[in-house]
Amino acid sequence: MEARECTRCAELAATRTSVVFGAGNADADLMFVGEAPGANEDLQGLPFVGAAGKLLEKLLGEIGLSRAEVFIANVLKCRPPGNRDPRPGEIENCTPYLTRQVELVQPRVICTLGNFATKLLRGDPAGITRVHGQPEVCTIGSHTTRLYPIYHPAAALYTPRTMDTLREDFLALPGVLGLAPAAASPAFDDVAAAFEQPVERPVEPAPAPIAVPEPPEPKQLGLF
Ligand code: URA
Repeated sequence: MEARECTRCAELAATRTSVVFGAGNADADLMFVGEAPGANEDLQGLPFVGAAGKLLEKLLGEIGLSRAEVFIANVLKCRPPGNRDPRPGEIENCTPYLTRQVELVQPRVICTLGNFATKLLRGDPAGITRVHGQPEVCTIGSHTTRLYPIYHPAAALYTPRTMDTLREDFLALPGVLGLAPAAASPAFDDVAAAFEQPVERPVEPAPAPIAVPEPPEPKQLGLF
């Protein structure tokens, strides 16, 4: 596969152990897009296998889904050294792979995890704090889908308020998946513009969350 040999980002190609292309159900209704592989992902060649991945799996379990049923990818397929932020040129180099993954999987809903995936796929620099939990129709490559931005699980690991918001947004996910298939939308075509000035765009109201019993807080913290 072309991505495994990719050298578009010289620094990332020189420092990575593996290209973490993505994993899961290639026919999934639900796709997650994170930021970039971390140390564990780089070693194992799989996305979200560290602490953030465990939290993602736990939240999926709370809405009756397993990791095997969804598809998980990242904005960048290679680990930035020291887990630094992805650079604009790297995002630009890597976006064709993500676009192709979306075209192949054809998910009904894409959950963007955190700022990088959200800004890129919405094509707008509005931050995750402003747009989380608000589904919106969007076209990525040739596929029209619904984006559903939520906080990155890594951000929720050490901030209880972010964890609460992430869980609330997760509980609304079954409702988002139940919406009618996405039809027309604004096109996603300008990577650079996604990180410049925000524009006001209509969003759909989030479906009501499903009622789920309070999680056993102290035990859970011990997991991470
Ligand atoms: N964080 C991400 O954004 N992606 C991973 O694969 C792991 C952690």
